[in-house]
Amino acid sequence: MRILVVEDEKRLCEALVQLLKKQNYAVDYDNDGESGLDDALSGIYDVIILDVMLPKLDGISILREIRAEKMDVPVIMLTAKGSISDKVTGLDAGADDYLPKPFNTEELLARVRALGRRRGGIVETSSLSLGNTSYDAQNLRLICGAADITLTRKEGELLEYLMLNKNIITSKEQIIEKLWGFDSEAEANHVEVYVSFLRKKLKHINADIKITAVRGVGYKLEEA
Ligand code: CA
Repeated sequence: MRILVVEDEKRLCEALVQLLKKQNYAVDYDNDGESGLDDALSGIYDVIILDVMLPKLDGISILREIRAEKMDVPVIMLTAKGSISDKVTGLDAGADDYLPKPFNTEELLARVRALGRRRGGIVETSSLSLGNTSYDAQNLRLICGAADITLTRKEGELLEYLMLNKNIITSKEQIIEKLWGFDSEAEANHVEVYVSFLRKKLKHINADIKITAVRGVGYKLEEA
């Protein structure tokens, strides 16, 4: 799961990013509203944590733009303590949840999990499986019959993305955006490296699915 944090208080932002990374989420962040909106519109996030008061563009405007683009990514607004108007405006603009500052980190994590589950509810049961193989994203476990093996976080993100797009060709560029964010310096050979790790693990547990390279285009996860 990939999360975007848009928060201009740098120490709070950094703490949030660390906290989320510890839970095995992939996290990107922005410290102002304009770059926050740019990143949010990339469509690569599963949850967005959005502060209301931001330089350049406020959180409510960002949220309205996201919803105007018909993007249904779950958004948690961070509101000023006791500001009922922030809360109401946020929910009206299409926020899924809000959290008044200062907030308890456990509470934030619980809400992120809840929204991730809501979005990924169907994903966990059906979409993250193919052939005789399934993937338990929560625990980074690749399962095939009685055999299972733990994936690294990046391997897991790659497999999850390929499974969500099973039988469809995804380009290396799409994979880089999804796994490393679109500002990253990651290159095509990063993708190749993780594909080769995953192939080894799939082979190790006797999975009947394979990652096919489509020359010059990308990869496709399909039944062998
Ligand atoms: Ca702020």
